[in-house]
Amino acid sequence: MEEVGTGLLDRLDAMQRVAASAPGGPLLIVAGPGTGKTRTLTHRIAYLCAELNVFPEHCLAITFTRRAAEELRHRLDGLLGPVAEDVTVGTFHSLGLAILRDNAEAAGLPNDFRIADDAERAAARAEAGDDEAGYSALLRKQGMVDLDELLTLPVALLRDDRELVERYRSRWRWIFVDEYQDVDAVQYELLRLLCPADGNLCAIGDPDQAIYSFRGADVGYFLRFSQDFTDARLVRLNRNYRSSAPILAAAVQAIAPSSLVRGRRLDPARLDPEAPLVGRHAAASVADEADFVVRTVDELVGGLSHRSLDSGRIDGRSTTLSFSDIAVLYRTDSQAAPIVDALSRANIPVQKRSHDRLRDRPGVMAIARELRHASGLDGALPARVRLAGQLLAERFATPTLDGSGGVRPEDVRTAVDLLTPLARRCGDDLEMFLSQLATGAEVDALDPRAEAVTLLTLHAAKGLEFPVVFLIGAEDGLLPLRWPGSTPDDDAVAEERRLFFVGLTRAQDRLYVSHAARRVRHGSERDCRPSPFLDVIDPGLFERLGDSAGPRRPKDRQLRLI
Ligand code: ATP
Ligand code: MG
Repeated sequence: MEEVGTGLLDRLDAMQRVAASAPGGPLLIVAGPGTGKTRTLTHRIAYLCAELNVFPEHCLAITFTRRAAEELRHRLDGLLGPVAEDVTVGTFHSLGLAILRDNAEAAGLPNDFRIADDAERAAARAEAGDDEAGYSALLRKQGMVDLDELLTLPVALLRDDRELVERYRSRWRWIFVDEYQDVDAVQYELLRLLCPADGNLCAIGDPDQAIYSFRGADVGYFLRFSQDFTDARLVRLNRNYRSSAPILAAAVQAIAPSSLVRGRRLDPARLDPEAPLVGRHAAASVADEADFVVRTVDELVGGLSHRSLDSGRIDGRSTTLSFSDIAVLYRTDSQAAPIVDALSRANIPVQKRSHDRLRDRPGVMAIARELRHASGLDGALPARVRLAGQLLAERFATPTLDGSGGVRPEDVRTAVDLLTPLARRCGDDLEMFLSQLATGAEVDALDPRAEAVTLLTLHAAKGLEFPVVFLIGAEDGLLPLRWPGSTPDDDAVAEERRLFFVGLTRAQDRLYVSHAARRVRHGSERDCRPSPFLDVIDPGLFERLGDSAGPRRPKDRQLRLI
């Protein structure tokens, strides 16, 4: 446990300290990328509990992804020690699930209700036809809810029951929401019910990183925070601790035409005069672009780790680069394959972060059901998952007892493997395991310790940081994304620009932007122009790289791993 007390706030800069130690009441922290939002949020919770005698069990911290929730929990543990366990940390979906579990009967659900998987939802839809209430009734009859209902049902419950509202308001007197710019209508209503207009709500976010409007998120809730909540206090964080000055300058210029933050300032805390410019590569083709990435990764991991022996550190950071320091970001999933192929051919380990949900893989929900019902199973979760898989497999062997639900034995084996990492992370907490599964835990969760180059979409990269970032496919049609025959409207272009901004601001030390002159899109090869988003960046911030150099033969990397 880290030292608490005044030392706690010493680790923050002046404005972060103002935010972390602000008194109760509505508080909006508007903060750009890399300004230390999570750091400030966790320190605020720790400060309130350690210094102002706020009970940890009165605190509710909400984030949007399971991964962000885990990160928050981890940092709180470090700051507060064991009492951090009493802080409720979760996603909106897990919060909804917890409220429903507490009030299953009032919501007309059996105590052991569960979340329908895709096949079950599709079956209910097919049976109900156009009848939307009929669909819910069918699910309900089978003791199931769907994912959207994890939010709509608690909202309906609370809307009709003031007493219940008061109960939750006295339970969670301090509410913290990260990435508030991505709140949607139902989530917003849930918050309004849980938190009075003058309540202790601390919302943190960056309107310029609002990238989920296609999923119903509405940055308008962020922009009108001070109308919705009484006497809201506003704190801005302007110092960026993440990126080198040239990277930050390029990012700030890139967002300027669409910025939703009046008087946006983002000052570099890092002022290394030697910081490299943003590398820009004009590739002839997709294959050429992939070669550029391979070549550069090869140089960086080889070159820098040797140089670090004498130079040691750049700007306070170690210059020893390993593959896990490097990320390749792209707009659409289909851009990953050529890069994965090229890196793999060069023996460079890669991990691709998938958006696929575990629950959608065959066999996964069958194992979850088995775990819930066979409460004879105990011990650590990974072992229980294996056992549940065995029980299912045995059932296949007994044709009269068909509990397989159309799942094949080989699916069960794969599902056990897929579920094991999540089971390991949840220790022996079955409820946490099942609720993470229900609320969208992903396949092959990103392992930050994996010694591999990370590939991920711009959307998935939000909130993360890497010493080295490649943003590939910076072309008109991909950034902004355009479908044949359609022209994105101004709002859509602005959101694409924000996505570009999110991508640029993931980089700490080195950023490379590339575009190909020809690319297969929508089934045919087309000429591509560089992204118009690049045009607003001062050309002096770019260094043109290696347009003519051919690929080099990769060396044996095993020797270089550290
Ligand atoms: P994003 O908008 O991309 O999610 P963020 O505002 O959440 O960014 P963080 O990820 O919390 O930013 O912080 C960015 C980096 O800056 C982290 O590496 C963090 O440790 C570092 N940092 C933040 N505040 C400070 C500080 N006061 N002193 C030193 N480093 C800091
Ligand atoms: Mg963040």
